[in-house]
Amino acid sequence: MSAAAPMRLRIAIQKSGRLTDSSLDLLARCGLKYTRGKDQLMCYGENMPLDVLFVRDDDIPDLVQEDVCDLGLVGLNVVEEKRLRFEARGIAPLFERVRPLDFGRCRLSIAVPDGFEYRGPGSLAGKRIATTYPSILARHLAEHGVAATIVELSGAVEIAPRLGRADLICDLVSTGSTLAANHLREVATVLESQAVLIRTPVPIAPAKRDWTERLLLRIDGVEQVKGSKYIMLHAPRAALPAIAKLLPGSEAPTVLPLDGRDDRVAVHAVCRETVFWETLEQLKAIGASSVLVLPVEKMLA
Ligand code: ATP
Ligand code: ZN
Repeated sequence: MSAAAPMRLRIAIQKSGRLTDSSLDLLARCGLKYTRGKDQLMCYGENMPLDVLFVRDDDIPDLVQEDVCDLGLVGLNVVEEKRLRFEARGIAPLFERVRPLDFGRCRLSIAVPDGFEYRGPGSLAGKRIATTYPSILARHLAEHGVAATIVELSGAVEIAPRLGRADLICDLVSTGSTLAANHLREVATVLESQAVLIRTPVPIAPAKRDWTERLLLRIDGVEQVKGSKYIMLHAPRAALPAIAKLLPGSEAPTVLPLDGRDDRVAVHAVCRETVFWETLEQLKAIGASSVLVLPVEKMLA
């Protein structure tokens, strides 16, 4: 960490890509206020001693490794690839995973061209596999005892088979539409990935450590309320057991009397899962009325 701002935390996030909006949203939900000028590489946190560095996602583990940043938000795929590369060079990785986050979900998968007969890992033997994740792929092949040639590319992996550079690929997939557009078929998952928070395992100043802990608690709070809803409804007292079963992921609901009614009560509950229209319809079918579903903004367990 530079001597200029020893008490300020630095977090690295992706400058522009699939993780950027969700990373900024997470920091904003944690209460961080900052102003970002156009093309600015670093933003000064105005209400927390936390500055944000905007970089390519592949550089994030290295920035934590080199102690330029204390924290980073990056895909597990990148973290694992970097970790394996450092280990192969006999270097201890200095970034530890502290939290999985609820965005950036994808998987690193093996995909074969239409017409390729895949009967399991053995079908990869002797083939050329194009990827930007050679270390993760090498580990996967070794685990299955398969010898294949890894063709390391820096991008455009999905067109490698058509260009004759490889027989098949190992690439990131989320919906599979890119694969389909390139006449490729996903046959095996090598790694399930999502965004993770990484941090330096190197001891940091107590003031920075305290802020890191606060930030982690806030991140936990943000992750908990994602998808959580506050449900309020009126229902027949007799339907309470059935209602508790219908409300997804809810803890003991609050049951309140209704003025002048002995048979009906008000029920309030926090549901930690998505509440679907079907659930509301089922609630109505067992006698619920005045059903309200509200978003939960913050939660501190
Ligand atoms: P950069 O310029 O920062 O290097 P990039 O092209 O490597 O950008 P993106 O395509 O923005 O990166 O992907 C960033 C991360 O988003 C991936 O490393 C992965 O963790 C995640 N991700 C989620 N879904 C997908 C997907 N369908 N394809 C690729 N990455 C995905
Ligand atoms: Zn990248």
